[in-house]
Amino acid sequence: MNNNPWGKLTGIRPAKIATKLLGSGKSDEQVIDYFMNECGTEYNKAALALECARALIPAREAMYENGVSLYIGIPFCPSRCLYCSFVTNGTKQAARLKPAYVEALKKEIAYTAGIVEKIGCVVETVYIGGGTPTSLSSELLDDMLSSLESRFDLSRVKEFTVEAGRPDTIDEQKLLTLKKHNVDRISINPQTMNDKTLRLIGRAHSAQDIRDAMALARSCGFDDINMDVIAGLPGEDLDMFRYTLEEVEKLDPTDTTVHTMSVKRSSRLHEYLSLYDLTDGETAARMVEFAADFLSERGKRPYYMYRQKNQLGNLENVGYAKPGFASLYNLYIMEEIQTIISMGCGGVTKTVDRATDRIERIFNVKEPKDYIERLDEMLHRKDVLTGQEPNSRFRVSSWRREL
Ligand code: SF4
Repeated sequence: MNNNPWGKLTGIRPAKIATKLLGSGKSDEQVIDYFMNECGTEYNKAALALECARALIPAREAMYENGVSLYIGIPFCPSRCLYCSFVTNGTKQAARLKPAYVEALKKEIAYTAGIVEKIGCVVETVYIGGGTPTSLSSELLDDMLSSLESRFDLSRVKEFTVEAGRPDTIDEQKLLTLKKHNVDRISINPQTMNDKTLRLIGRAHSAQDIRDAMALARSCGFDDINMDVIAGLPGEDLDMFRYTLEEVEKLDPTDTTVHTMSVKRSSRLHEYLSLYDLTDGETAARMVEFAADFLSERGKRPYYMYRQKNQLGNLENVGYAKPGFASLYNLYIMEEIQTIISMGCGGVTKTVDRATDRIERIFNVKEPKDYIERLDEMLHRKDVLTGQEPNSRFRVSSWRREL
């Protein structure tokens, strides 16, 4: 099996290439030819990039002329997963920061809402990620979501996602709080349905907890639920991965994201790599192939994809959705077709000039303590969006006009 299925392509967004080629009038066959002959990409990967590019077309056509998406980062988790490289902190000390963090966030929400109003943009999608947003208590979630609702005009929002990733952070009160604030899409992410692996990767919950969390979410009225799995977790073989996918699909998520294991430099896995039985690239490729066939048989099609550094077998991550359930936010962020304004720790605001495809970024700090202490600086970094910052290197007038 080829250990370099994407050939000489190294970028993280191969589907963007397919999008550009389609946009320049190339046929499906010509797109496939380009990937295979110019880049040395395998046929099935070229077809994947093409299908994701095709999935983008209706979403882009329906996008508001002056739409933006909002992202809010909640950098807390109940514990740190073995492979995680995000700034998330599961310590008691970090947990004590949660109320102050939400207070700071509310100030950034208010400030950012003022900017969005001033530049005349319409909020199209909202995504609250992390970390695990449901690590916050239901009171803090309620407080944050109330602030968001009162500061922004959310009347034209098409999709409102909250990652409720870890089942050990979910309870009925939190789910009902999300529902009360019109959240219509959540993620419950098992990664694996094998209890032994869940323990190995540092998750303090069982596969049964995932089934229970899904049942609870359904009973609270959520019918659009994404689930993430990882192909190639340490110690897992094809049968274990197959079991995970079969169990996940019994729970009938609308959207299943299949990640391929990536050994990230700042993860515990990278630090203690020799202690773990890592899946080889060939097995990971078989897992990914199985997922594509299995999910396709269940009526799910790939709609977005991206690659990361150090992925087993140089593979990719793919979102598969039932018809009508492709996440707009995932499409916008992966294909970089809409400005995303981020708030909270680790947030990266990304402005997209649709006329030129020029992209600019504004970064927030990553650590909650820094974020709370340096909030004013975070707020004023966003001034550039209104063109108030005289030394702006952002061509704000350009992207604003094109939004
Ligand atoms: S749930 Fe996600 S963000 Fe939290 S520790 Fe695990 S991988 Fe990292």
